Amino acid sequence: MTDTPTQLFIGGSWVDAADGATMPVDDPATGEIIAQVADAGAKDARLAEDAAVRAQGEWARTAPRARSEILRRAYEIILERTDELAHLMTAEMGKPLAEAKGEVAYAAEFFRWFSEEAVRIDGGGGILPDGRNRMLLSRRPVGPCLLITPWNFPLAMGTRKIGPAIAAGCTMILKPAPQTPLSSLALAAILKEAGLPDGVLNVVTTSRAGEVCEPLLRGGRMRKLSFTGSTDVGRLLLAQSAEAVVRTSMELGGNAPFIVFEDADVDKAVDGAMVAKMRNMGEACTAANRFFVHSSVAEEFGRRLARRMGALVVGPGTRDGVDVGPLIDRVGRAKVEELVADAVERGARVLVGGRTPEGPGCFYPPTVLADVASDSRLMDTEIFGPVAAILTFDDEDEVIRRANDTPWGLVGYVFTEGLDRALRVSERLEVGMVGLNTGLVSNPAAPFGGVKQSGLGREGGRVGIEEFLEYQYLAVPVR
Ligand code: NAP
Repeated sequence: MTDTPTQLFIGGSWVDAADGATMPVDDPATGEIIAQVADAGAKDARLAEDAAVRAQGEWARTAPRARSEILRRAYEIILERTDELAHLMTAEMGKPLAEAKGEVAYAAEFFRWFSEEAVRIDGGGGILPDGRNRMLLSRRPVGPCLLITPWNFPLAMGTRKIGPAIAAGCTMILKPAPQTPLSSLALAAILKEAGLPDGVLNVVTTSRAGEVCEPLLRGGRMRKLSFTGSTDVGRLLLAQSAEAVVRTSMELGGNAPFIVFEDADVDKAVDGAMVAKMRNMGEACTAANRFFVHSSVAEEFGRRLARRMGALVVGPGTRDGVDVGPLIDRVGRAKVEELVADAVERGARVLVGGRTPEGPGCFYPPTVLADVASDSRLMDTEIFGPVAAILTFDDEDEVIRRANDTPWGLVGYVFTEGLDRALRVSERLEVGMVGLNTGLVSNPAAPFGGVKQSGLGREGGRVGIEEFLEYQYLAVPVR
């Protein structure tokens, strides 16, 4: 977008960083710098905090219907600007335009969903068991929130937090990832246009995450942290949040098992694998990381998956017909290269891909590895790239044990045509979400989130708004 803002958004105004600092944003397909955006420091964070705290009281008192209609207007504007927003996202993040358009629709849907939830916040009440007191339960916003998002879904990770925060009546500071600040700034401009009052949303783009966020978390004025990112950073932020007892929602990393039983429909399993592995070039917390395939179908599955993966077109996301864009940066690509090299060293066979292309951009080809050893590093590391690692199994108990043998528990995928087995295995997987004969679970109307070290709380669904609400209980004597 030619008029995409590049300044900080504080108290409803676009402002430079107090020290005038800026940071570059580059296109991972070319390495070219596409924008310079304001690079906030601690002083800017304090100004954003002041604005969010100042706006909180009046915003909490705003009619739910008014909050709902702002979200609804923003939803409509986002859809009207699908092409512009998709181009912006592809430019700063790399995903192919068709996927970027899909993300715009997904991101917008969080605003529509939470515009509907804003007017359904209910309390409760009744006579207490002793008959002497009534209780009246009311819901209130938790207060000013710090929202921290990753680069892999630059728009949707923002709307998944901003939507329920607006619906609940919370003010907020959004700190997007430094690789993809432009989508968040464009979103702030849309919300302003949709009528969001000044100070309700503040956006601080920064390359100095610790300097900006730690004082906010320790200071005691922000009442909530909603974080999406890696488990290591999540752990650090949980510790920082402990000091002022800040409420937290954490959407962290994954290590999804993808299990194909001997009674699976292999067509469905390969289709599901293509989505679970290749959505967002494999740069998704929901990406299938470990393919456990029954030994009787492993060869056929591997061959067919390799054929499909090998047919994908790799290139700049803006080019027609491209299926797979670049990875986010050279560090991300080097990690994928190292994980593949380690697996091959331990005996994995490369069925397709596995070689980094020459030339500019952070491209890596769709890759399928068979006969992967259980002690390969990619078994306990998020690959975050287009690499499918196949292991075999023979027994249901064994595969469940191996699937659960990880500190993470975000999502699992199960492919079987047997109903009993489908339910039994799904119930025994230690994950927050299961894709049964499907490779896609994300939906704004469903509670997204994980167990174990994949996080705390849920985003989306009926429960998504709960993360931004408190109860107040009022005791009233019965006379
Ligand atoms: P990351 O390195 O953890 O960063 C996430 C965000 O946290 C970025 O905005 C980052 O900014 C910020 N951050 C890092 N250190 C910080 C600190 N000390 N204080 C405050 N903020 C800090 O993760 P990523 O590489 O961007 O994203 C990939 C990870 O996100 C993967 O693990 C993936 O599984 C996870 N993810 C989870 C979900 C989910 O819903 N469960 C969804 C998407 C992604 P800087 O880069 O400037 O440090």
